[in-house]
Amino acid sequence: MTRTPDPTHAAAVVASSVADGLSEVVFELDLQLRCRWLSAAYRRVFGTPPEALLGRPLTDIAAPRAQATLRQVLVPLAQGEVDHVAVEVPTGAAGAPRWLEVRVTARRDEAGTLLGLCGLLIDVTARRGHEVAVARMALHDSLTGLANRSLLAHRIAQALVRAAQTPAGVAVLFIDLDHFKVVNDTLGHEAGDALLVAVAARLSATARGAETVARVGGDEFVVVAEGLRDRSEALVLAKRIQEALSQPISLGGVAHRIQASIGVASVGAGEHRPVTDLLAEADLAMYRAKERGRNRVELFHDDLRVRNAERMNIEAELRQGLAEHRFEVFYQPVVALADGRVEGAEALIRWHHPQRGLVGPAHFIPIAEATALIGPLTELVLATALREFAPLAPLTVAVNVSAHQLVDTAFPAAMARHVAESGIDPARITLEITETAVLADPEVSRHVLNQLRQLGVTLALDDFGTGYSALAHLQQLPVGCVKIDRSFVEGLTVSETDRALVRAVAGLAAALGLRLVAEGVEQQAQADLLEAMGCPSAQGSLFSPPLPFPAFLAFMQEQ
Ligand code: C2E
Ligand code: MG
Ligand code: MG
Repeated sequence: MTRTPDPTHAAAVVASSVADGLSEVVFELDLQLRCRWLSAAYRRVFGTPPEALLGRPLTDIAAPRAQATLRQVLVPLAQGEVDHVAVEVPTGAAGAPRWLEVRVTARRDEAGTLLGLCGLLIDVTARRGHEVAVARMALHDSLTGLANRSLLAHRIAQALVRAAQTPAGVAVLFIDLDHFKVVNDTLGHEAGDALLVAVAARLSATARGAETVARVGGDEFVVVAEGLRDRSEALVLAKRIQEALSQPISLGGVAHRIQASIGVASVGAGEHRPVTDLLAEADLAMYRAKERGRNRVELFHDDLRVRNAERMNIEAELRQGLAEHRFEVFYQPVVALADGRVEGAEALIRWHHPQRGLVGPAHFIPIAEATALIGPLTELVLATALREFAPLAPLTVAVNVSAHQLVDTAFPAAMARHVAESGIDPARITLEITETAVLADPEVSRHVLNQLRQLGVTLALDDFGTGYSALAHLQQLPVGCVKIDRSFVEGLTVSETDRALVRAVAGLAAALGLRLVAEGVEQQAQADLLEAMGCPSAQGSLFSPPLPFPAFLAFMQEQ
């Protein structure tokens, strides 16, 4: 207990021992707001003895910027205008900021004359910290601390208002990490989270101070850039972000390289545009970047909106087609060039479209691949082809799989289930993959491909000669078969280069013990040349177009 040299208030004397036991600071003030008495808790809260404040105005406990506020609240009390006040102020205590609730009551005698003021100081730092955290959470992403979607919308809106008033534009960059799911699937969610935090830090460091960085989805980030003179400045920023992200990120001691697809939408100075438009445009442009092979930057263009409408339309129709069983698996026979014997077939999907008739995969596989629909489509082809071919031993059946399956670590298990359910010998199954699909994520693809190999199925490199065409891939990938693309078959009779390539591939295939199949053989001359160059098998219209299953069976019988 600490008191002024001349305690005048009897109640304080009585209450002092009780007050000293409280965690709140109890105090008495004179009408000039000076401290006349403080309880022992003062030392616990402020770390200095209560004497330090005796005789000084209570407002001194507040941080300098809050002293005037506190004074404004207390003066009406000291002047008898009100009998009770409560206010929260930050303290001037050094170190971590503290918040105090100051509650003060007027003390009057029986006649109602104002004698002084008394009250409590309550440390509310913890509660306020919590409130601030809750307020932050409403506007920030809890994992990375970046702005969330609501704060982002607000920031874009503000930026647009400023842009309408100044001769500078605004750009929104939509950033989606490429194959982030794979990190989560293979390294676990903790590693995934760590990667997102690292990416958030890179983005914040790359964006200049004025830019807002937000996380708007699992692996989706948005950067808002202001004060741009033209779109090229937004492109420069996008490239800088790509560059920053491409630097290795260490997770558990292992360096990972992350790539991103970035879509850019912008408004010029003085242009008016709703926030949602800008964000949706950047999203569309990002989507385009994914479509064009990922790890690239695309600017929004009006065509994208039209394309998107078409794509959404096809996507809806595809969904409906799946529900209504409008897909059919056709089979193109693969024959032995030596004697025309049917060795097997390639399964090729067709869509019976209610208005457009029979639609080939070129029109819808890319859209299915860009959406989640490629999953059910592949399932459908696999289930159908394996079931229909199970009784046709020793014929082989080839099914095309897309990049999506190659980065899906659950695909090998799904494949094993299809094999088991159909009862087919896995040695009779070929899965056709492309180099482009493998290169989308070589590490994970290799993992998935090895697992597929262990099931006993054969992997074939499809469309060989197009895309990256690295002969080295033949050695590096666990493939057992190569399919020479029809563009080379087409050139065989006219181009020495094409002949040389086919000869080289045939030689390598023989050396590595790979099966070789030529695609798109339309003329007898091509078939003769292929056979002479050491290619034993082929498919193409010379032998048969892709056929519905019953027609395929009939074709077999004719042989
Ligand atoms: P692909 O795997 O290279 O299939 C060979 C394509 O060549 C087929 O086209 C086939 O009809 C066509 N073709 C066969 N013989 C000839 C010929 O003599 N001349 C010409 N000009 N073309 C011939 P299709 O059926 O339109 O399929 C196109 C592509 O769509 C396929 O190329 C494949 O990459 C993809 N695809 C087909 N079915 C599926 C599927 O079930 N899943 C996935 N992911 N992709 C599929
Ligand atoms: Mg194929
Ligand atoms: Mg092919």
